[in-house]
Amino acid sequence: MRAEIIAIGDELVTGQRLDTNSRWLAAELGVLGVDVACHTTVADTLEAGVAAFQAAANQARIVVATGGLGPTADDLTRDVLATLAGVPLDLSTVALAAVEARFASRNAPMPESNRRQAMFPRGSRIVANPDGTAPGIDLDVHGAGGPCRIFALPGVPSEMRTMWQATVGPAILAMQPEAATVVQRRIKCFGAGESAIEAMVPGLIARGRDPLVGITAHEATITLRIAARGRNAVACEAKIAPTEAAIRAQLGPLVYGVEDEELEDATLAAVAGAGGTLATVEMATAGRVGALLAQAASRRGPEMDGGFAGGTVLPEDAGHDAVVLAARARREHGATWGLGVGAVRVGPDGRPVVDIVLESEAGASQVSHVLGGGPALAPVRAAKAALDLVRRTLLAGDSMAARPRAVRR
Ligand code: ATP
Repeated sequence: MRAEIIAIGDELVTGQRLDTNSRWLAAELGVLGVDVACHTTVADTLEAGVAAFQAAANQARIVVATGGLGPTADDLTRDVLATLAGVPLDLSTVALAAVEARFASRNAPMPESNRRQAMFPRGSRIVANPDGTAPGIDLDVHGAGGPCRIFALPGVPSEMRTMWQATVGPAILAMQPEAATVVQRRIKCFGAGESAIEAMVPGLIARGRDPLVGITAHEATITLRIAARGRNAVACEAKIAPTEAAIRAQLGPLVYGVEDEELEDATLAAVAGAGGTLATVEMATAGRVGALLAQAASRRGPEMDGGFAGGTVLPEDAGHDAVVLAARARREHGATWGLGVGAVRVGPDGRPVVDIVLESEAGASQVSHVLGGGPALAPVRAAKAALDLVRRTLLAGDSMAARPRAVRR
């Protein structure tokens, strides 16, 4: 099934605002197995709007549009759709009551102009907007290639997303006879860049694949999202399983968890699984590692054994190397493992480097982390590199061995 996306608004056309709605909708349509063939950005005029919707309706079975549903004179989407369909705008008493209720809940009188938001092209359906005053429009038209269903949503991204999830996404899913359900699995990875990870799973991240695999990066954490369509959840899971297994086989220890699990959760689970406690002394990361571990510990709850024994932050000029810091962490907090994050130093090739050491009674593991990603991101990435050293060392079961190695990120 082919879809097109239309973003409406002068501020988008003039470049004053970035069109993030279309990007989000394209990814969501992809998850539902709908091919997005075209994005159009169009100004707030009747002529431009009608031309854009006509062209899209001639080519696509589904058109999703955002913007231009507000109460002001330049919000023309409802007029555009009525013109396109050759029908008048009718006042919906149901929609008017919803708009009035929205103002009443804020103890504000409803301006007369907001009545426009209760006007709908005859024959269209209302898409409820739980978070705002502008309801969406769900309209069937006939294009050159056959029937086309148009969904027009408000431009405000949060409202648009809520309406997609509650109404539009399920409606589009129901238009596909074979697929009544979508199940998604997110595989979380750390330790290699987005393009390196993509290259390790060749063929999986391909348009039109079922299940579809997408990749995103956030603060050096890479997420692979598998989305399967099927008759029911069991059928979807059956499609996901071999793809997930292939990803895990290819990426090995780069995979640290699934769904909402963060790297610090996996690290703390590895500490608890190894039957001990971890403490930190940090310089370059300024307490980030300890803060993340404390958050993970509170998510695990007090009933889970083992975990985070405590952390200390030292100024960067305190002058200790990471080995000394790791030993101090263990001693100061009475922990099984001490994690030391040193000060920023200049590496052999002139680039800034942070030494990270994990130490126990029997030995130490070390990485030299090359700081990268700009001043805002560099400490976040260094903190994650420290957490990952703990996770990987303890999972490999060789925490006792001294195993210096250099890692570039
Ligand atoms: P409302 O009347 O509820 O504000 P609307 O449908 O009239 O909704 P617009 O006036 O077109 O929406 O846009 C509202 C705001 O939403 C804009 O100021 C802008 O901040 C944001 N917005 C609109 N379109 C987009 C888009 N494609 N991507 C990102 N943000 C957008």
